[in-house]
Amino acid sequence: MQLRYSFRLYPSAGQRTALARAFGCVRVVYNDALRARETARGAGLPFPKTGELSKRLITEAKKTPERAWLGEVSAVILQQSLRDLDTAYKNFFDGLQGKRPRMGAPRYKSRKDTRQAVRFTANARWSITPGHKLRLPKIGDVTVKWSRALPSLPSTVTVVKDSAGRYFASFVVETGPGEVLPKVSPELGIDLGLGHFAVLSDGTKIDSPRFLRRAEKRLKKAQRALSRKEKGSRNRDKARVRVARAHARVADARREFHHQLSTKLIRENQAVAVEDLAVKGLARTRLAKSVHDAGWSAFVAMLEYKAARYGRTFIRIGRFEPTSQVCSQCGVKDGPKPLHVRVWTCPACGAVLDRDINAAVNVAKAAGLAVTACRARVRPGLLPAPRGEAGTHPTPQPQTAR
Ligand SMILES: [Zn+2]
Repeated sequence: MQLRYSFRLYPSAGQRTALARAFGCVRVVYNDALRARETARGAGLPFPKTGELSKRLITEAKKTPERAWLGEVSAVILQQSLRDLDTAYKNFFDGLQGKRPRMGAPRYKSRKDTRQAVRFTANARWSITPGHKLRLPKIGDVTVKWSRALPSLPSTVTVVKDSAGRYFASFVVETGPGEVLPKVSPELGIDLGLGHFAVLSDGTKIDSPRFLRRAEKRLKKAQRALSRKEKGSRNRDKARVRVARAHARVADARREFHHQLSTKLIRENQAVAVEDLAVKGLARTRLAKSVHDAGWSAFVAMLEYKAARYGRTFIRIGRFEPTSQVCSQCGVKDGPKPLHVRVWTCPACGAVLDRDINAAVNVAKAAGLAVTACRARVRPGLLPAPRGEAGTHPTPQPQTAR
């Protein structure tokens, strides 16, 4: 399977200029090719082939004064740009034919795009130097912060500049088998809710960690500061950079949290089941913001690939399963409950159920996993409360069973 590894890059001033040139050339070739194809399509002419475009937009264009500067960068990255456009078209047409999720037609790239990228394939002869730098053709030896080891030598590296002005090298690595973890017995259902980031069928409720909440708080503060700055002022530009940095930090912190949690859950459980989010459906509602913020789909994707990598089972159950309508104890379906109802008593068996844990257990059961459903209960059904307690707590006090 393929995995992506990203490392921070620290290019020198000269290398940053060279990278800016590479981003620019790749963008221009991409846009020229897109324009050539759209023009042909508008005129009812056949779709120009990639080889033809390569000749016209790279080899011959370099000889013209308007595009002579294309010669200042590695020709291989320009070819790659044409292939990337091919892929974008292929994905678009496959989407129209229902072979994959629908996506938009290829769009022109802009100098103002927040993310700039350039891809170096094996043909581009990039390498890692004996001094552990990243050697890029016509750019130089760039300093890399190797935060973890690459499992094998990758063939391709994408250099990215993000909205906060940071540079990254992103490698795609082919990992072989042999990472299968020893079998364990627990199996787990996960409910991704709004109250907590995730609730597990074993009764654990997980909230986003403090480092993420702190980063989010700082982002909000930066956004408020930006909104108070006068349009077109120099201070506004500075504030905008601060917002972009805070955004990047939130994204990093969130990814870190997702990695930690997904690794832990996959290591500790033999099988993991989640409800299919169909986030796209939810995203149109007023819950949209929290859905995006929680980043569930990224988290679920991590669970899925880590399960495949470590020999665990990952199951996604359809969202038609009414996980909050069914008692996880006796299986009786007693209908939907409004969101504010967090705890209820099953009319059939009398169990006092916690909404989130009940859902997590139902997710596991729907996936055919063997989970111990007793954890969904806040209190066992039909058990009279001790006399003293009955007097002091007239209403049921929910408590998570441990
Ligand atoms: Zn019941």
